[in-house]
Amino acid sequence: MSADIIDGKAYAAGLRERVAGLVPAFRAATGRAPGLAVVLVGEDPASQVYVRSKHKATVEAGMESFEHRLPATASQDELLATVERLNADDRVDGILVQLPLPPHIDEKRVIATIDPDKDVDGFHVVNAGRLAVGEEGYVPCTPLGCLMLLKDRLGDLSGLEAVVIGRSNIVGKPMAALLLAENCTVTLAHSRTRDLAGVVRRADIVVAAVGRPEMVRGDWIRPGATVIDVGINRVPGAEPGKTRLVGDVATAEAAAVAGAITPVPGGVGPMTIAVLLRNTLVAAHRRAGVPLATDAI
Ligand code: NDP
Repeated sequence: MSADIIDGKAYAAGLRERVAGLVPAFRAATGRAPGLAVVLVGEDPASQVYVRSKHKATVEAGMESFEHRLPATASQDELLATVERLNADDRVDGILVQLPLPPHIDEKRVIATIDPDKDVDGFHVVNAGRLAVGEEGYVPCTPLGCLMLLKDRLGDLSGLEAVVIGRSNIVGKPMAALLLAENCTVTLAHSRTRDLAGVVRRADIVVAAVGRPEMVRGDWIRPGATVIDVGINRVPGAEPGKTRLVGDVATAEAAAVAGAITPVPGGVGPMTIAVLLRNTLVAAHRRAGVPLATDAI
């Protein structure tokens, strides 16, 4: 048996097209495009790449992109003042502060300063709380993208056994909350979980968000299970000096047993930016009081 490969790249491209397709109606209703502001502090090369691709994707979707670059030496007060200006700016529907921030800046304080109704990353405690109690809010992009891929593949998730490995605030915990809201029976595993392989073997759905290259082995997977691999790990490549990307799941082994699996790269990765655009479109409609059928996207 060989698993179906879940093509996150294709799904993300379709989502971005659907989002772009809904922008003209918003523009017609409000006289402006949805706006996303991205704040980058310092010169971290990976963060610069992310910010550039977010800007490009925003513009391609017909939305307005506001970029704010602060030097690595910027003070916490300068950053907070930037966030407050964006909170007050009516053209800005979504605010994203690119993490990680330099060590002299208190990340929690910065996230807490973002207006929860513009927090399209879903990192504000108000949005974490809304998700926990089942109220409308903003959900972190990566787990929401994973849920979209799961529903696209499986349809109704009710009653399925789901095991999420990893309990970070940006992936594992919101992923577990989303699956619970879909009526899965959810286990949230972490570094202290006993007999992780045995726990994972029960799962109809496995979501691995650990940050350990190929930790989840083929013999952990229940035959026919759906496996979502969030991990992005750079490991030495075949040629000296070269590297390659692998997930948290040993893909080839797991694919021999699973029903479906996301590849790395090309699985969950491309979903994150697509969902960011989707969250920004939703934020724009909610802020402007313009109805949007979220099930259309
Ligand atoms: P964190 O480092 O914040 O969390 C890792 C989690 O894995 C922790 O809860 C930790 O447990 C758990 N863990 C660590 N070792 C083990 C182990 N041996 N057995 C079981 N659980 C373990 O990572 P993130 O959630 O931020 O990211 C996870 C992965 O997803 C990374 O590879 C990251 O690069 C990737 N990622 C990909 C994104 C995308 O766009 N595709 C977006 C975000 C992340 P404990 O809490 O007990 O320490």
